[in-house]
Amino acid sequence: MSDRAVVLLTRDLRTHDHPALSSAVDAHDEVVPLFVLDDRLLGSANRVAFLLETLADLRERLGGALVVRRGRAEEVVASLRPGAVYVSGDTGPFGLRREQALRAIARVRAFPGTAIVEPGAVTPAGGDHYRVFTPYWHAWSGAERRALETPVRDLELPDGIDAGRLPTLAELGLGEPSPGRPRGGETEGRRVLAGFLENGLERYKNSRDVLAAEGTSGLSPYLRFGCVSPLEVAVAAAGGEDFVRQLCWRDFCLQLRAAFPRLTSDDYRPRARAWRVDDDAFDAWRSGLTGIPVVDAGMRQLRREGWMHNRARLLTASFLVKRLGIDWRLGFAHFDELLVDGDPASNAANWQWVAGTGTDPRPNRVFNPIRQARRFDPEGAYVRRFVPELHELDPRDVHEPWRLGRTALAELGYPPPLVEL
Ligand SMILES: Cc1cc2nc3c(=O)[nH]c(=O)nc-3n(C[C@H](O)[C@H](O)[C@H](O)COP(=O)(O)OP(=O)(O)OC[C@H]3O[C@@H](n4cnc5c(N)ncnc54)[C@H](O)[C@@H]3O)c2cc1C
Repeated sequence: MSDRAVVLLTRDLRTHDHPALSSAVDAHDEVVPLFVLDDRLLGSANRVAFLLETLADLRERLGGALVVRRGRAEEVVASLRPGAVYVSGDTGPFGLRREQALRAIARVRAFPGTAIVEPGAVTPAGGDHYRVFTPYWHAWSGAERRALETPVRDLELPDGIDAGRLPTLAELGLGEPSPGRPRGGETEGRRVLAGFLENGLERYKNSRDVLAAEGTSGLSPYLRFGCVSPLEVAVAAAGGEDFVRQLCWRDFCLQLRAAFPRLTSDDYRPRARAWRVDDDAFDAWRSGLTGIPVVDAGMRQLRREGWMHNRARLLTASFLVKRLGIDWRLGFAHFDELLVDGDPASNAANWQWVAGTGTDPRPNRVFNPIRQARRFDPEGAYVRRFVPELHELDPRDVHEPWRLGRTALAELGYPPPLVEL
């Protein structure tokens, strides 16, 4: 049997703490790290731009030894004739089907590495997954952790295997990404992590909800693509409970989708709501032209940066589903189009939480955008950063510019509010 191992990389694009990669290197003479660009999974320009930067960085860190191909994973893997295929376990529906197809080609060895506590590793008595966060958090906090792996560097590809050229965005048929999006790669991810541990972790508790502060880690895109190991982040941040709790939310969403694969399309808890169809209102929301400054600021941040502050995600999502009565699936799809960290599990679980069809024990909760804005953007700095029409207004008016009257609003070039609050 061939002693060649293919390490099929998916959303684990790093050299640090990589159980599948480390185990393959320990056990095989020939190791082929492989990434397959599959058109069915490519996604939007923002995520693909980040992915291409990440692959270039990973290739450099591996001393050039990263094979990149376009096609279907099973077919590319088969053409490399491995004795074994190493993967980081993926519990999404596509990942499970892919693993099944790989089993017909070679021995498949699946490893942890995508979550801190893998889906299914902790379960409640009498159930296959946790439906409410707090009991999950308690079980998760007590779960056993594996040891961190030592980093892998500079591999050599077997003779006759060409690494392949990385395509450009245009070659993949994609347009321009958001100008202010984060830069991809493990190197950048580790820089962001180190900066957060040094300057951000201690003040995270008090600044994480302040819209204008850079008070959160900014790690979500790097966790989404596995440029940093979630376990390594949790170990490094141990003691920062408020932050570690957020990492636990990520695992909570992953185990939710593993147990309920239709999370991205079907209500987790059906509520028989009749959604409104209103293309104009939906377009205004997408474009950041609802006339509610804090909502518009969030939606414009998303478009400009491919990222949005968590508090803004909550209140823009709540505005769409609870005030405009528009189906959460449309909001989910728009976020998916632009978010660099866009992840089916986290995106859908959070949309459903906000819509009241998910795991929120208070499904009728509504975020009042004005109260939220006054509390989390008291000086109006966040609104002013993303809504230049309101740049000159003082903190009293910036969140409720309609108080100035229709004529003044028209002079500012800013729309009146879409709905009364
Ligand atoms: C409607 C909606 C959609 C969302 N869609 C996504 C998504 O597609 N991808 C995504 O990673 N996050 C999503 N989130 C969660 C959250 O907003 C982002 O993870 C967070 O804003 C990322 O910024 P950060 O890395 O600075 O977060 P930090 O506050 O520094 O948190 C650290 C990490 O914890 C995880 N995390 C934090 N909050 C959550 C949460 N509520 N659910 C799941 N994981 C969390 C993320 O991996 C994050 O990087 C969504 C939230 C809402 C309300």
